[in-house]
Amino acid sequence: MDDRSPPPRQVLAGGVVVTMNAARETFSPGVVVIENGGIASVGPGPAPARRDGDVVVDCGGHLVMPGLVNAHTHTCMALFRGLREDAPRDAWAAYTLPRQDRARPEDYYWGTILGGLEMLQHGVTTVADRFGHMDVIAPAIHTVGLRAVLCHTLYDVDRPLELDRGRALIERWGVDPARRVHAGLGPHAPDTCSDRLLRQIRALANDTGARIFIHCAQSAPELAALRARGHQGAVRCLRDTGLLGPDVVAAHCLYVDAEEIRLLAETGTWVAHCPASNAKIEARVAPVAAMLRAGVRVALGTDWAPTNNGMDLFDEMKTAGLLGKVGADDPTVLPVARLLEMATVDGARALGIDAHAGSLEAGKRADVIALAMDGLHLQPWHDVAATLVYSAKGQDVRHVWVDGRWLIRDGRPVHVDVPGLLDETARIWRRLRAGEA
Ligand SMILES: [Zn+2]
Repeated sequence: MDDRSPPPRQVLAGGVVVTMNAARETFSPGVVVIENGGIASVGPGPAPARRDGDVVVDCGGHLVMPGLVNAHTHTCMALFRGLREDAPRDAWAAYTLPRQDRARPEDYYWGTILGGLEMLQHGVTTVADRFGHMDVIAPAIHTVGLRAVLCHTLYDVDRPLELDRGRALIERWGVDPARRVHAGLGPHAPDTCSDRLLRQIRALANDTGARIFIHCAQSAPELAALRARGHQGAVRCLRDTGLLGPDVVAAHCLYVDAEEIRLLAETGTWVAHCPASNAKIEARVAPVAAMLRAGVRVALGTDWAPTNNGMDLFDEMKTAGLLGKVGADDPTVLPVARLLEMATVDGARALGIDAHAGSLEAGKRADVIALAMDGLHLQPWHDVAATLVYSAKGQDVRHVWVDGRWLIRDGRPVHVDVPGLLDETARIWRRLRAGEA
């Protein structure tokens, strides 16, 4: 699909343009010009003189902003949304995993189309995704049209290591952050990877230039397993194995002490904060206010649908704000402007793609969303960041462009057969349920 001839110039005119550029400029009205998949210009005022062949998109009544960046998810697991609720981690996994094991690779393909399209439709244009079955998931992400960095999950404790599959993903998709879909390295977690494997992954990252995505300090049993191996904490384990650094994104970081927060900050390690999933499965909130105060770099993720259950990054900004205030016992922390950065520019920095995405600036790729501003729940507009974080929903998103391709128009995908997708989802679940008591 990327091989087609360049589309005509698109002029998005008449909207309120929230750039998220370094000066955090907003233009009302503003114009975004998209050419050859990239942003040719962003600025105030009316549309430029019309050229032959221009596609002029009337964005009057819309807020135009960069697409959101989901820094931690497992898109295909949309297929397992709503299976189990109100259960501790172990009971939840015992219920879900046997059904996952019965699924076929093609089910994960359709799960990815389902979850990926849901996110795209709701304004997420970039994801960091890691799972098995990347041979079907990567093409599905590519088909949905998302920007993505993808990792094949690597373990070697109690499971066979599939390093060859991790390497094959990197060979197939490359690690160049300029590529819309590219690969990273995905060690599962400190307790499910031996120290030897973690060190091997650091060496491989240095050799290939791949970024590293890992779960970290997500459960009490993880910490107990690490203590048995001589590590006093998950972040300390990452330090001891060379896995802290600005090229590492550590998801969750729920169980970290002050010294580990200092380590994360000092090394420039990114945290992918997933507050809804953490609350639901672990009944815990990461000490995100303390992390920000210490200078830790934080992006935002939805984690997977079974523990969220939607993958709406607008909802996640709100949840991060609310739980962050409760966790810190301080209503002044997690200001709205900061939450908006976590879901846009900082998400792009975490994924190493900030030269290409995360803000509306000339020279970046055109990952753009436009929200209808007329919903009653959005009125009146006083503070744009406050409205986006605490009032807006993914369903307010009406138009989405990724790499300049106008994929969602008036809320509808133009490139995926939605009734066919719903049929596939129903068919898969008829088969997975067959034989269950
Ligand atoms: Zn995860």
